[in-house]
Amino acid sequence: MKYSLKAKLSFSYVMVALISILLISVLTNQFLEKQFREYVQQNQEQKNHTVAVSIRQQYLGEEKWNYAAVESIGINALENGLIIKVTDASGEVIWDAKIHNNGMCQRIIRQMSQNMNTHYPNLKGGYVEKPYPIIVDDKEVGLLNIGYYGPFYLTENDLAFINTLNKLNVAAGLLAMLFALLLGLVMAKRLSTPISRVIDAAQMISRGYFGGRISEKSSTQEICQLTESVNHMAQNLENQEILRKRLTADVAHELRTPLATLRSHLEAMIDGIWQADCDRLQSCHEEIMRITRMVGDLEMLARYDNENLTLNKTQFDLSGLAKQVVQNFESAYVKKGVTLNYSGGEEGIRADKDKMNQVLSNLLSNALKYTPAGGQVDVSVKGTLHTVEVIVKDNGTGIAEDDLPFIYERFYRADKSRTRLTGGSGIGLTITRSIVEAHKGKIEVGSKLNEGSEFRVILPRQADE
Ligand code: ADP
Repeated sequence: MKYSLKAKLSFSYVMVALISILLISVLTNQFLEKQFREYVQQNQEQKNHTVAVSIRQQYLGEEKWNYAAVESIGINALENGLIIKVTDASGEVIWDAKIHNNGMCQRIIRQMSQNMNTHYPNLKGGYVEKPYPIIVDDKEVGLLNIGYYGPFYLTENDLAFINTLNKLNVAAGLLAMLFALLLGLVMAKRLSTPISRVIDAAQMISRGYFGGRISEKSSTQEICQLTESVNHMAQNLENQEILRKRLTADVAHELRTPLATLRSHLEAMIDGIWQADCDRLQSCHEEIMRITRMVGDLEMLARYDNENLTLNKTQFDLSGLAKQVVQNFESAYVKKGVTLNYSGGEEGIRADKDKMNQVLSNLLSNALKYTPAGGQVDVSVKGTLHTVEVIVKDNGTGIAEDDLPFIYERFYRADKSRTRLTGGSGIGLTITRSIVEAHKGKIEVGSKLNEGSEFRVILPRQADE
């Protein structure tokens, strides 16, 4: 069973609210009731004490009592739920509620038991009597017996008060639950709306529409990361799609030109317009060689893609190797009229020497291709504690900012109008990057159109085995 984020969040909020409210209700109820019982008990003591004081004041001295006042106090007490009995020093009854109105006394006790039993069935309360000796001038002149419902008794008013408290508790609970539900819905909406957008965008991407991006901002860190990742993924897929389309077009273009030349040459020879002499056959052969080279490049790329590049690592001086490659290129540079400089001291590295040779050759060959006569190319090798850096800097054509992200892609050429005579097949940098990354290194480029380019290859001295 799957539930939406909205339902889950709202449910969680309501559950949390419910549990907290239940806990708070139970705790406050317990606490308040306990406090209230103590208060009622103290109140009872206070009432008894007041009656005892009033009765003591009715002793007139020399064993004489104000009988009428004692009776009025007794009746008043009875109306308040206290059943009193006053006796003098000799035990003679002065006033007794039960003698005065036994029926009323019984009725009061019954009603009290009934009230308390319905509200507190576990209390085990009942009618209790407490004696209060009447002392005047350190002499006991009589005894007051107060009978009441113990250990405490809650009047109708008290019960109504407790009831109101309970109702308030329930009302607060319901309100809090409603609030929690609303909060849950709002929070869920805030969370689920951007997630829904991400889902929509991901679905569009899965259908092949890579152009859409999620622009909505969220204050939730994880959602921001999610939207950023999806946008990034869409961008990557869009780039790949552009490249895929371009790759097909490029391969077709690369093949069409030599094939067209071959075809026109051969047709001319078949029709007898041209003699099949050595020069013309040589020209046809060159075109076939060009196609063969291209197929070879494609095969090499496929190999680089399919298998992990196996590296045959040895310890050698990268600076020495760079110097050697620079020397190999010197004549070609001189021929084109481009100055080639080299700087750098000994830098030991553990790497695949042949592959490094290929990296350096590719960079130097590109620098030569894209630097016009009169230009300059500087090659340097620098080392830090853990890395060795090769820099190839030229002041040639440079690369437009739009092209920079794509130059490592196969068959990508910044100058699309360039004829195949001016350069290679567009896989030199693809291979260069594969080799560098297989060595756990990285290749960086800084370039400005018409100002020049700087390629930096950063390699760890001791690439992990
Ligand atoms: P190519 O065989 O076309 O040189 P690469 O993969 O070596 O292919 O390079 C890809 C593209 O990057 C080139 O077509 C060129 O547009 C650009 N590029 C590479 N090196 C340089 C450079 N030093 N200066 C200017 N552009 C360069």
